[in-house]
Amino acid sequence: MPALIPAVGYARRSSKAQDEASIPEQKRACEDFAREQGYLLVRWYSDDAVSGDNTDKRVEFLRMIKDAQTRGDFRAIVCWDHARFGRFDSLEQGFFGYQLRQANVHLVTVKDGALDWTKSVDRIIGSVKQEGKHEQLLDHSRNVVRGQLGAMQNGGWVGCPPYAYRLEGTRKNRRLVLGDPGHRLIVQRIYKEFADDGRSMNAIATRLNHDAVPTARGRVGKWRYDEIKVILTNPAYAGDFTAGRWEHGKYYTIKGRAVAKAERPGKKPESEWIIHRDHHEPIVSREIWERTQGIFANQKAAGRRVGHSPYSPEENPYLLSGLLRCGRCSCPMHGLRQSKYRHYKCSLNHDSRGKECSGTQVREDRVLLQVADFVDREFLALGGEQLAFRAELKELKPEDLPEGFARLKSLLSPPEQPAIDRKQIVGRVRELSVQIEKARKQLVLIDPEFIPDAQATIRELEQERDRLENALRKTGGGESDLNEQTFQALQALYWVSYLFRCVAQEHGREQPEDWTELLEEMRELNGGRPVAVLTGAARSPLLRRYLRHIAGITLHTRTEGSGKRRRHQLQGGEITLHPDVGATKELNRHFRGQRPAADR
Ligand SMILES: [Zn+2]
Repeated sequence: MPALIPAVGYARRSSKAQDEASIPEQKRACEDFAREQGYLLVRWYSDDAVSGDNTDKRVEFLRMIKDAQTRGDFRAIVCWDHARFGRFDSLEQGFFGYQLRQANVHLVTVKDGALDWTKSVDRIIGSVKQEGKHEQLLDHSRNVVRGQLGAMQNGGWVGCPPYAYRLEGTRKNRRLVLGDPGHRLIVQRIYKEFADDGRSMNAIATRLNHDAVPTARGRVGKWRYDEIKVILTNPAYAGDFTAGRWEHGKYYTIKGRAVAKAERPGKKPESEWIIHRDHHEPIVSREIWERTQGIFANQKAAGRRVGHSPYSPEENPYLLSGLLRCGRCSCPMHGLRQSKYRHYKCSLNHDSRGKECSGTQVREDRVLLQVADFVDREFLALGGEQLAFRAELKELKPEDLPEGFARLKSLLSPPEQPAIDRKQIVGRVRELSVQIEKARKQLVLIDPEFIPDAQATIRELEQERDRLENALRKTGGGESDLNEQTFQALQALYWVSYLFRCVAQEHGREQPEDWTELLEEMRELNGGRPVAVLTGAARSPLLRRYLRHIAGITLHTRTEGSGKRRRHQLQGGEITLHPDVGATKELNRHFRGQRPAADR
């Protein structure tokens, strides 16, 4: 005979319902049931003449919950049915369910079987539906959809406004009006980067994160390519009202401009949309909107996904993706793999099959070596070696730093830490700690279903706090740090050039042979601390950080031969840094002497 499971019984009778089983009847049924199912009842708790939703008055019930946590001498509660246990709303259900689950106690009932706390909310909803509420739900759904259809046909916006817009007007006639001017600039920037600069949606998201632009939900560093796509494909930004683009009603939906039974969720054909052209003030011009849709259509027709890079920004092996411009036509150059090397090729040349631009094509490593040279020249121009030497001896004073140094430092500093205001950060850390504490306390009050989400939020808060505390630790303030900071910045610059050369060297090879050696060497350079390089130099955050400060690199090549024997020789180029990196003037440098006049 298997061991009996220790359990307690719970019985309750409400004052009103006289047709309910009496407490002795409930107890008898439960005792029989417990014997059959292998439970050993160690105690009874019972509340008489208390209704199921008035938990505060259910003294015995509350004592039972407390005993489950403190005494811990039972694993189950045996009860007549779920309603005897309690008619809770889902919040309360979650509150008690969570406590019992933590105490490793489950509920079994004579009538309704076991209740799984992890799914309790589903069951409550399920039983509500079964008991006739379902019809009511359907009626409600039909009415809501009918109301929405009416509003849409009148050009009234249903649901949340798109990013950079807000809503004005009464409930059934809400109009889109221009929202936050800063958000509008971001929308325009996204369209420009996509349609004019030929950047992928991933690249656009990365750049927004790098500039610490908050998302629509106000979070920094959380832009992703799909949010960019939502903005690039929403006709609202060109001033058109469209509704009913998506099928998402659970019970009822809009079909053929009428209320109909819902089908599977998904995008509806354009013929089903409700469209009002030039309905509100646009944020982008009709011209760029149409060009953007054209790019999506072309990609689809070609079975190509140009706007959507298959790589995450951290893993894209095409390190210069989105940066290179053809020196002949200034169109963006796209990565392509040819033989065992990564190349970049003029997209206009590619798309027009050579008709509109005779083309520029370069091997990635050749460009990388030129960029490394560029970095070295910057280092030398600052007197980097001399500075680093003096910084190491702690001899530097603020006035010793050359003019370009602030710009250089911002080139290499991580984006999340602009000029650090200690006071502000200390305040933020305190604020975060309070939030974390509060969230932890609330954890027991919410539906078990939402606990993983809440825990994830807490983790996020904790990460932010740790990051800020680290930043505080790193910056002590005062003059002794000037030397340390200068030294670190110069060392970082030195590494950037070194890393560019490493990528160029390992270019095309599956696994660089001397990688462990390289890591070891860099660890030494870093004073024995581990180096933030994952598996290849190309993944170095330092390198990618530097690249993000480059607005574009225009390349000039000389071509020889024709047809299949055509060869491109890299002749020179200009690097343009982002104007926000210190000086606002553009920094044009030639790779190698003058641009060849003969080839223009
Ligand atoms: Zn071109």
